[in-house]
Amino acid sequence: MVWPHLAGVAVSTNGRPVVLVVEDEPSYQDALNVGLTVEGFIVVGATTIGQAREVFARNAPNLVLLDVMLPDGSGIDYCREIHQTLRTPVIMVSARTSEVDVVLGLEIGAADYVTKPYRLRELVARMRAVLRRPQSEPNAGDERITIGDIDIDLVRRSVAKRSLPIELSRKEFDLLALFAEHRGQVVTREQCLDALWWGLDLVDTRTLDTHVKRLRQKIEDDPPRPRHLVTVRGVGFRLDD
Ligand code: CA
Repeated sequence: MVWPHLAGVAVSTNGRPVVLVVEDEPSYQDALNVGLTVEGFIVVGATTIGQAREVFARNAPNLVLLDVMLPDGSGIDYCREIHQTLRTPVIMVSARTSEVDVVLGLEIGAADYVTKPYRLRELVARMRAVLRRPQSEPNAGDERITIGDIDIDLVRRSVAKRSLPIELSRKEFDLLALFAEHRGQVVTREQCLDALWWGLDLVDTRTLDTHVKRLRQKIEDDPPRPRHLVTVRGVGFRLDD
């Protein structure tokens, strides 16, 4: 499989989103080239950061899918570079869960991330979600939600309780954000599974309970008797002030 950038010319998009895939593993290059094209994306590829800069300049992608470990450097550094200068959304691709913490901890401006091995369906769902987001920075006021003494910053993906930061995993944060956006309303278990796991059948329903339990341990004063994140028996959950 030859990466489309090797043609050396800008691609014609016909309105389809252009995704720059920076990936040095041939098996992933092939799968992404075929799979994302079928899903309606124009795929331009690069195997190194140096190549990525050239392809980026030529094709002005709408989205970058960026591997962390690349032959000529770290995708983390390149993500920061894109974020500071070009503002094109980047989805980081990491090979190890341990890298995820680095990706999230550094505030490098990544819009999202996936961990290898990932499913194409999951990746495409994330890509579409990122492309739907407004390109410009939203007003800070629109992206902060306060629930009682808990402050949630949806842009920075940070949470604080009585001004003290709370460390949440990605799923825990996504869950909390989902509840916060429906504050005072019941969010059904199905809504949770759809929003966080795209309804994938691989998810054991107990996984959701595990995440809710962990979330309570982090945000509640008395987790066994939650004041904010309450269970609505037989239906789902509700986040109250
Ligand atoms: Ca790699």
